[in-house]
Amino acid sequence: MPEFAELYGRPPTVRADAPGRVNLIGEHTDYNGGYVLPVAIPRRTCVELAPRTDRTVRAWSAAGPGETIATYTLGTEAPGHGWLDYVMGVTQALAATGRRFDGFDLRVTSDVPVGAGLSSSAALEVALLRGLRALYPLTLDDLEIARLGQRAENDLVGAPVGIMDQVAASLGSERTALFLDTRTLAWRAIPLPPTIELAVVDSGITHAHASGEYRVRRDECARAATLLGVAQLRDVAPGDLSAVNRLPPPLDRRARHVVTEDARVLAATAALEAGDLERLGPLLYASHASMRDDFEVSLPAIDALVEAARADPDVIGARLTGGGFGGCVVLVCRAGRAAEAARRVAAAWAKETGGAPVVRVPKVDGPT
Ligand code: ADP
Ligand code: MG
Repeated sequence: MPEFAELYGRPPTVRADAPGRVNLIGEHTDYNGGYVLPVAIPRRTCVELAPRTDRTVRAWSAAGPGETIATYTLGTEAPGHGWLDYVMGVTQALAATGRRFDGFDLRVTSDVPVGAGLSSSAALEVALLRGLRALYPLTLDDLEIARLGQRAENDLVGAPVGIMDQVAASLGSERTALFLDTRTLAWRAIPLPPTIELAVVDSGITHAHASGEYRVRRDECARAATLLGVAQLRDVAPGDLSAVNRLPPPLDRRARHVVTEDARVLAATAALEAGDLERLGPLLYASHASMRDDFEVSLPAIDALVEAARADPDVIGARLTGGGFGGCVVLVCRAGRAAEAARRVAAAWAKETGGAPVVRVPKVDGPT
């Protein structure tokens, strides 16, 4: 892999990075104005930067196609449907705030798997914004970095994502979950009790229609909110499921998932704060069942992976994490047991289904 100096003929002047994340609980709640509880993972995207005196951006990523350096001029950002869109989205969003900066040379490396639901896109956006903040330097707080990352992805990339991923990458850390109210952006760091350790098993399953299904679910939630007479499903009182249950199917099921999931995030946050593992585990399994039955974003193979986790003595709770239709399962394990438990669960599931799982957390492979 070429070093920065080999690519650009001079050393970088700034290095910055940002982590991927796993969402502990609170799925498909972010675009409904609700609550989420992500945790940063020990996998990061790193950027190296050197400033330029013109308006040119040159960018290279180890994850990019081939070994080519991509180039564009600031102010001419336009979607090209490749990884450079994330870089252009960031410079466009940053320029729209009125901040002044020149071009730069950029090298990106990462051990956050791309497209596995661990938010490699937000890790890239936040790492780049941190790098640009240090390079020029710019006054930007961490919450604004998260907002700009989301804007980059919404506007130039064209993905209608909520703000959870960018907030987690910008404010999260590995031993604290981030309780986030996605409407107000009020957040609270919730230390993970020392009795637990997280694991993430990647099913390796990717679904060609996942982003189409995501749009359908978003639209269903918006229609449900309109029929219920609320701005967003977040506004339905937690105990008030009678109106939800009278919605025409499948809007009743979709809204029921969101409303009960918001309540589960609040309950899981309280359980974590109390160190009450007896309450935490069932909330994760209930979240999975709700994604499977009401939101219908699971797959039989993913359900089997969660069941394999449930059968493991060192797993306290497990659920599908991320948008669905494949991706990763998050396991809450007894402290010190996560690596072993994840390996056992992955092996049992591979044997049962013939799948090719990868343990992403704890990080056992070497640096990349
Ligand atoms: P994820 O769940 O990993 O965030 P997304 O589809 O949201 O999946 O984002 C993945 C896309 O982000 C990749 O296809 C690529 O365009 C871009 N990306 C993420 N990480 C990198 C990286 N290290 N280098 C280049 N592009 C990246
Ligand atoms: Mg993403």
